[in-house]
Amino acid sequence: MKIHEYQAKQLFKAYNVPVPDGNVAFSVDEAKKTAADLGGFPVVVKAQIHAGGRGKGGGVKLAASMEEVETHAREILGMTLFTHQTGPEGRLVKKLLVEAGQKIKKELYLSLLVDRATASIVIMISQDGGMDIEEVAAKTPERIIKIHVDPLMGIQGYQLRQAGFALELPSAAMKLFSGLLLNLYKFFIANDCSMVEINPLILTSDDKVLALDAKVDFDSNALYRHRELMDLRDLDEENPLEVEASKYNLNYINLDGNVGNIVNGAGLAMATMDIIKNAGATPANFMDVGGGATSEQVENAFRIILADDKVKAILINIFGGILRCDNFAQGVVDAAKKTGINIPVVVRMEGTNVEKGKKILSDAKLNLTTAVDLFDAAQKIAAAVN
Ligand code: GDP
Ligand code: MN
Repeated sequence: MKIHEYQAKQLFKAYNVPVPDGNVAFSVDEAKKTAADLGGFPVVVKAQIHAGGRGKGGGVKLAASMEEVETHAREILGMTLFTHQTGPEGRLVKKLLVEAGQKIKKELYLSLLVDRATASIVIMISQDGGMDIEEVAAKTPERIIKIHVDPLMGIQGYQLRQAGFALELPSAAMKLFSGLLLNLYKFFIANDCSMVEINPLILTSDDKVLALDAKVDFDSNALYRHRELMDLRDLDEENPLEVEASKYNLNYINLDGNVGNIVNGAGLAMATMDIIKNAGATPANFMDVGGGATSEQVENAFRIILADDKVKAILINIFGGILRCDNFAQGVVDAAKKTGINIPVVVRMEGTNVEKGKKILSDAKLNLTTAVDLFDAAQKIAAAVN
């Protein structure tokens, strides 16, 4: 689960990770009030969306006076911001962060990630902060330094110093940076984060270090341990169909192709997306209805997929293990009758009670095409959309 920069900075503050003074604003008036409270200029007006690259997209502006705060706030609030992370549809800006402007001597990069390959927390640092870190990684990978922290040992003093030296910080800033990194690590562990990224971390003209930007992603599977964090979820930032699917425990991810697919089991769902691709079509979603899907879940799965205008045909790929094919078939028939499916549907079903399941489908006289195997299903669905 991602959160906004202003929320991440409030959490940072509680962990003594230094951030600029500032506050969230939902209107131009609130932005002006916050700017007045900051008691000086420049002030920075920042769009709050769950996507990076806001600066380049015109979503981060410096204001030298109250008039400029007003102009920038008016312009950014309600704008649709396009960045390399928003996708072509952009993102509507509904809130701002208004912050005290900083005098920047150097923009650095700092992030913490879970690294599954080494079962450690990896700290990534670079002197080339502020810009696209992906570009630094591609062109000058030696400019990114990685430090692996054993989660059982925790972060060690020598690792804090190693990071500070790698950033070539002046000695006056070394202690501040060590404290910041130590506290950030504590924050990361205590809240089951999967990623924390500060880009840029800045060295100010008076040799302080501050998190100028803040991106935090929590491990959603661990959120049950942090009820208080769930309040930070912003449904405006999520795909509405994905939000709807999460209400019914459907593992659904919206993609940009035109073949909707309903599958039981995440592995089979991945394989199904591959065979759709191989056959020359593209999946419109990932959908795992789970091993023991109920007919109600099947119905909701249909409804959600049909609500997606991109979907031109549906492929159902079911392996009856715990889930019995006859029960699933009944769910499909009920859903089809209720939702009125008016696009081609191809069904491939195998496993427990498959003959009974096939009979239920054929008796229902729905406009379904059955496939004999995965290959056949892929050919048929590709023919339906192409
Ligand atoms: P992003 O573009 O979404 O990553 O947003 P950031 O929060 O990283 O801001 C983008 C850029 O705006 C930074 O890299 C800085 O160069 C600039 N910026 C942000 N805040 C300040 C500030 O207080 N003072 C100055 N001079 N520049 C700032
Ligand atoms: Mn940034």
